[in-house]
Order: sequence, then structure tokens, then C-alpha cells
Amino acid sequence: MNEEQVKVDRYAKSRDAFAWAKEVMPGGVNSPVRAFKSVAGGGDEIVPVTVKSGKGAMVMDVDGNEYVDYVLSYGPLILGHAPEVVSAAMSKVMRSGWTFGMPTEVETQLAQLVTDVVPSVDVVRFVNSGTEAVMSAIRLARAATGRAKVIKCTGCYHGHSDSLLVQAGSGATTLGVPSSPGVPEAITQNTLLVPFNDLVALDAVLKEQGDEVACFVVEPIAGNMGCVPPQDDYLEVVRELCDRHGVLLIFDEVMTGFRVDLGCAQKLYGVMPDLTCMGKVIGGGLPCAAYGGREDLMRQVAPDGPMYQAGTLSGNPLAMAAGLATLEVLRDTDAYGVLETQTASLELGMKQAASDAGVSVYTTRVGSMFGMFFSDKPVYNYEDATACRVDEYAIFFQSMLHQGVMLAPSAYETWFTSTQHDESVINMTIDAAAVAFKKVAG
Ligand code: PLP
Repeated sequence: MNEEQVKVDRYAKSRDAFAWAKEVMPGGVNSPVRAFKSVAGGGDEIVPVTVKSGKGAMVMDVDGNEYVDYVLSYGPLILGHAPEVVSAAMSKVMRSGWTFGMPTEVETQLAQLVTDVVPSVDVVRFVNSGTEAVMSAIRLARAATGRAKVIKCTGCYHGHSDSLLVQAGSGATTLGVPSSPGVPEAITQNTLLVPFNDLVALDAVLKEQGDEVACFVVEPIAGNMGCVPPQDDYLEVVRELCDRHGVLLIFDEVMTGFRVDLGCAQKLYGVMPDLTCMGKVIGGGLPCAAYGGREDLMRQVAPDGPMYQAGTLSGNPLAMAAGLATLEVLRDTDAYGVLETQTASLELGMKQAASDAGVSVYTTRVGSMFGMFFSDKPVYNYEDATACRVDEYAIFFQSMLHQGVMLAPSAYETWFTSTQHDESVINMTIDAAAVAFKKVAG
């Protein structure tokens, strides 16, 4: 068998599974990036791997291949796959019923923990997805201020709700243009764009239209154009500018929340937003998200106040139990210390392997969020991120996949580690990267 046949054989069952999936689901997937389209140009014909199971740092596919997983379901699995403590908490719920549409104690327990540890969150409301969390926080900001406009950063992702599905424009600020058919311009006209890490642009748009702006929504560490941390005093000055114009500051911590610190990015950087959106880790890998913040704002949410927002499965006991068990581990152990040490050694090893192969990369990291850009220059915003050599990422991705390392199938995703990514899997990843970088170098 030649090298090509080995590769085809290695993914034979995934190939069949994906062919079937494509017949009955758009692109064979339930979220576009999973279709591997943006890494298809790496030289090999690849199909998305169909996963069968996961344990710790590893995922297994239907062909029996094993991979060290840096996708971790795009962030929720901070304790790795199927941790005993979380599955035990869920099993308990599964024996006693898992949805009621009535209050349960477990949702109050999770709400108590969240309000205890997230500094700016006095009151919290659970929803089912990050998309819903940000959509609802924006509705609340508009209700509270009586203003219609929203400012977001190019390259920041806040879910797929209509008014936020707006990406890059040209110039410092651009009036929103929908980035998907089906989103009327009338909706996105109220969405203003500024580059991330650009205080001059934010200041300018606020000076011009600040009295019409309800909120500035931002990922405190941008994680959807790769991992791009805030520069210097960016978040502090953002806070000041928002205050000056009576604009509410919303931190979208769907990715960063409980990932970089138990108190979320706001605690790490010491900057308090008015409203916070949380997701991913908060549900321990089940569909769960939340928005919360200052008491006077959150009391405007129905039924305390007039701003309507609801959900059949919101506060679902199974998701609450998984989230509570996960956050308790994060609170009661040295999880963040472990994540810091392990991910720092991953970063160091990746840099060394790239440099040994003569490939220029720019790496970023905050705790267990890691970014690696195929770039000669630093990356501070969407323009920098999209200038990177994505064709090289595709080659790198494919080589890593063949060697048993699962990276996100896009150059614009953050890598995540879990507490289960110990020295041996990190070292195995770095060894694989040495081979992959050589392939990139040609
Ligand atoms: N906000 C951020 C920062 C995200 O990273 C995501 C998803 O990746 C979302 C919102 C949307 O969350 P969901 O996919 O749960 O709707």
C-alpha cells in the first residue's frame, strides 16, 4: 500500500459516514466549520472525521483512530472528555427526570456559584446557547438605554443572530452590511463596526454617534479570529469611553468565561462590564449559556421587568448539573495552575518546532486559550489575522490529523487545552508538529 492508500484506508468509515450525512444534512454537518472546507487545500483529499467517543484529552473516530483533541467542542470541555465527576452528576439527574419547565434547585445552585465568582454579575439568566445569550443581552441594553445602535468589532463572533452577523468593512468604522443572505439590511444598519484593539476608531464612532448607541459588545480576548488578546490598556480605556457616552459595555465571555479564570476575563484584566454573556464551560459541554450583570439592569428582564426573554429548556437540569459539577472542580482544585503550566509548555514547544523548521509563526496565549498564526508579524485585529498564510495552515492541519492530533479545521479558531492535556500528550503534539512544520516548509 502506498502512502495515499494508507490515508484513504485510515478514514474509510468516516468517508462512508460523511457521504450518508451529506444526503440528509446541509454539508453533512450541523455547524459549517465542521465540514473541513477551509482545510481542504492542504494537499490531501480529506473528509471530516466522524467521532465515536472521547475520554480525557483524546477523541476516537469510527475507524478506530485516536487523536489528541485541541478542539474540545470549541471550548466547553475544560476538564477533558467525559470526566467522571460530571458524568456522575448527570447520571443522578437522569434517574430523576431531566426537564420540567418548572423551577429546580440545581439552577439556583449554579446561579449562586456564578454570581459568587464572576465579579460584575449580580443576577444571572440561563439560556441555551451563546447566540441567545448575546442576543438577549443586546435586547436588554437597548431596552435599558432606549437606544438602537450596537457597536461590535470586526472579526469578533457573537453567534448567528441577525443583528450581529456582520463582519469586516473597510475603513475605521463601517456601517453594517449583512454577511449572510437572509439578513435584511434594515436590521444590520444599527450595527456599527470597529477594529478590535483600536481605541481611536471606537472613540471616533462614539463621538459621532454615541448618543444613539446602546452598547459596545466585545470579546475581552478575541477568540474567533484565532486567539487575539487585548493590547495594553485596551479594555480599561474601552470602559472609560463607554462611560463617557452612556453606552453599556457588554463582555461576550462565551469563550473566555471560566476558561481563563474562574472570575472570567473581567477578573483577569480587572475591568468590569455592565453585562456579561457566558457559554461553553458554564454548561460543562451541554447546551447551556447565560447572561448576567448589574442588578438594576437584570431586574428589567421579565418577569421582574418588561424586557421579554424566555426558553422551554432554559435552566435545563441536566445542563445545570453538568455546569455545576464542572465549575465546582474549577473552584476547588488548582485547575487553572495546571492549565497554565501545560499550555505554556505547548506554546514553547510549538514555537521551537516552527523555528527549527524555518517556518515563521506568531503565537498568542492566555491561560488555556492558544493561538498560532502562520505570520511574520504580530496579530492584533481581524485585518492582521486574515493576512496570515492560511494555505500553510491547511498543510499543517492535515499532517497533524494524520499523526493523531485534532486541530480545529480553520486557521481562525483558538486552540483549547484541558486539565487532561498532560506532559505526555503535549510532547506527542510537539513531536507531530516538528514533522508537520517540515511539511509546510516543503
Ligand atoms: N460568542 C462567542 C465569543 C463565541 O465564541 C460563540 C461561539 O463560538 C458564540 C458567542 C455563540 O455561541 P453558540 O455557538 O453557543 O451559539
